[in-house]
Parts: sequence; C-alpha cells; structure tokens
Amino acid sequence: MIRVRFAPSPTGYLHLGNVRTALFNYLFAKSQAGRFILRVEDTDLERSKPEFRAALIEDLRWMGIQWDEGPEAGGAYGPYLQSERLAIYKGYVERLLAAGKAYACYVTEEEAEESKRLARLEKRPPRFDNRGRHFTAQEIESRKARGIKPTIRFKVEDPQVVLHDLVRGEVHFNLDDMVGDFVIVRADGSPTFHLAVCVDDGLMGVTHVIRGEDHLSNTPKHILLLKAMGFTPPQYGHLALIHGPGGEPLSKRLGDVSVREFRRKGYLPFGLANYIALLGWSPGENREILSWKELQELFSLERVNKGPSIYDPHKLDWLNGEHLRRLAPEEFAARAFDFLQQGGFLQTMEPSLVMKVLPVFQDNIERFDQLPDKIGFLSEDFGYENRGWLESDEGREVCRAALEILPEMEVAEDGLYDRFVNALKPKVRAKGKNFFMPIRMALTGREHGPEMKRLFPALGLNRAELRFKRAVSV
Ligand code: GLU
Repeated sequence: MIRVRFAPSPTGYLHLGNVRTALFNYLFAKSQAGRFILRVEDTDLERSKPEFRAALIEDLRWMGIQWDEGPEAGGAYGPYLQSERLAIYKGYVERLLAAGKAYACYVTEEEAEESKRLARLEKRPPRFDNRGRHFTAQEIESRKARGIKPTIRFKVEDPQVVLHDLVRGEVHFNLDDMVGDFVIVRADGSPTFHLAVCVDDGLMGVTHVIRGEDHLSNTPKHILLLKAMGFTPPQYGHLALIHGPGGEPLSKRLGDVSVREFRRKGYLPFGLANYIALLGWSPGENREILSWKELQELFSLERVNKGPSIYDPHKLDWLNGEHLRRLAPEEFAARAFDFLQQGGFLQTMEPSLVMKVLPVFQDNIERFDQLPDKIGFLSEDFGYENRGWLESDEGREVCRAALEILPEMEVAEDGLYDRFVNALKPKVRAKGKNFFMPIRMALTGREHGPEMKRLFPALGLNRAELRFKRAVSV
C-alpha cells in the first residue's frame, strides 16, 4: 500500500509551495488508493506555534485535502506531532551510538563553521572536516571541563549515493564534496530535522516522499541515515520550484501567496486546487479545467515536469472564473453569500434579496472579493455614481413616469423588465442612452452592471418603486 505524507513545519501560514506539496501527495495517494498522512514537524520549539498548526489544519481542510492519519484523525503510527515523539528519536540515537554509526562530537558550532570557511578559502568543498571523530579522551575531558556540550553526529562513511528520483531521474551525489558527518542531535539535546524526518518516515512506513527541490541536497543524507537505522528508504520525488511570472523566484514582491490570502480573495477551494495542480503537472491533451474528482483520478507522478513552473495570478483568476461558471446557480449564490457574510459585507443588506441577486453575477466575476463592490447597491442607502442622469429633464421624466407605471404592473417575474420598458417608453421623450441610463442609475447607482432583465425581477416592483422615489428627490 502506498503511504505518503505531508510534513509541514508550523512556523507560518501555508503558502503556495507548501500547499502544492500537500496537494501532490494527496492526489498521488488518492490516485493510487494509498494513504495520506499529515505529520507536523514542530521540533523547532522557538519558531513553531500552535496557532500556525491550527491554521494549517484549517487551511488544508478548506482546500478539501483530508488526511487518513494525523492530528485529529489519529492512526496506528502516531503520535503525529514530532514534539510528542522525542523519546522515540532518543531510542534510535542510542542505537546508532551503540552501533558506532554516530558519535558525541565536542566540536563547537563556531569551530565547525570555521572549518567550512577554511575549506572554502583553500578552494576545497566547503564541508566540515569531521575533526571531532578523532579527539583523544584527554581532549574530550578538557572540552567537557570547559562546559562544551556535545552534539551527536552521524558518520558519513559511504559517500556515494545514487538517487532514482521519481521526477528528475537518476541523481548522483558524492557526499565528500557536500557534507561531512552531520548533526542529528543538537548540543541542547533536541533532534535535528534530519533525524526526526528519517525516524518518522521509517516508522510510519512512508513509501514515497514527494517534496520540494529545496530538499534535494538533504536526500542523500536521509538515505544513509535511514539505512543505518535499518529502514528501507522510501522512493523520492522532488518538485521543481515555483517561479514568479517573469521567471524570478517567488518573492514578497508578488504579494502574499498564502492559502489564507487566497481564501480572503474568495477563490473556490477546488478552483485554487485545480490551478495549483497545474504548477508542475498536467493531465495531457491540453486539458486544464479539472474537477476535484478528476484531479484525484488523473494525477500521476509520471506527468510531473522537471522544469520550474510559473505562478501566474491571471491564470488562477481565469481558472477560478471557469469553476464559478460551472456551479449550479444555487451553489454559486450559497458560496458567495458565505464569503460575503464572513467578510462582514452584508450588514446593511436584506439576506433574501442578496441571495436572489447573487446569481446575476455568476458570469462576470472571477473571485468572490469582486462582489462587495458590485452589490453595494443592495443597501438602501447606496450612492449614485453619476447624478447627471437623474437631474436632467429627461431623466426626471423617466423616473416620474416609472412611478406612475409600477403600481399598475403585474408582479409575475417572467418578462417583467421588458413589460416595464414597453409601458414606460411611450410615456417619455428620452430615447436610447437617455432612456436607459436614468433607469440604471435610479435602480443601481451605477452606469454599468448586470443585465437589467435579470436584475429587475430580483429587485421586485416594490423595491423598484422605492428607488425611483428616492431618485426623483435627488
Ligand atoms: N518539515 C519539512 C519542511 O517543511 C518537510 C520535509 C520533508 O518533506 O521531508 O520543509
């Protein structure tokens, strides 16, 4: 059975890079009828925050990414918070020490850094020279006496590592050029990322590790460490980086690319997921618009690209718009309503009117955050963008005549606007723009907006009458 995991560190909000890793793992598990594990890597006590953990969980759920094992879900391989697994790591360290595969190293961090700096100066690969391996008992005693606390380092004894990467193909590493013996337990006794990740991937039976390319240089270390602890290393696949629209690395300049921010902007979770799935993967045949279900069925690692992908907010908007159009009108309205209510945009509006009017916008928005501005006129005290249309003689005449007609009209919604217009036209001089603009201004306060044929019945005759009354008094 395929077992994959998403292993975020709760040191900030879930962002584009992370959530893509989560999504690819999740989709891979779903497409293979495997299991998806959420493991929280919170051993960095200073930077990990419970509120980020909570946000992470909430944002993943919002996206529709559900874990089979992990916090709140439970599972047979827990606990799933690394901070609750410290005793387990300790056990493995003791075994590595006993087997001579790791050692207590009394070299200070400054000395280790200095050894790398020297190597660089002498044009050697900038790696630690393992000097602590060979300290005499006397040297160790004197260092202990100076209060130096040891780290525990893993002995790199087999530096040639070949990785059969699921995305990049064969990658050869020579650790002699990269790292010396590396730290698995810090001087303060805390496990490093390398140790925790390997113990957990091993014990949790992870079969495939799909993660960002930024971890590629860690992978040979992980392979050695896993083997030394008696585990079969999983298969690895490294996802190429996501760049900005100009090919530059994703940076602050592009704005906030956290899932929080995407939620705030009012993307559909599956619109966002569809877009993110295309950052490095494609189903082929130029297909781009995919439902959540199709993503789960079609995803495959074979179709993940080696090259970097480009984050393009316009394409995200377009794709989300396509998903909006595909919703049933009631679902569109319900989702839009939730978004507006949570954002506090509906305080001065009648909920039933809002629900009725919302589907009118289904064809002309790409994100829900474009709605508050468009529906401002649903408040009774909306302002007029251009009073000129109401103040002109022709405009006044249109509004007054509307007030005469409206009480007489049949309420049936079918063809309501056409009936209204046909009754109004013969009563006024205005034609074309001069006829239609006063109506639009009186009813919506704007020169442009949704089709009146759809809007007018949603507003209803009574409300229309009130609005024309207000218009004649400006
Ligand atoms: N906690 C690591 C990170 O957030 C994950 C490492 C991994 O996937 O192996 O980058």
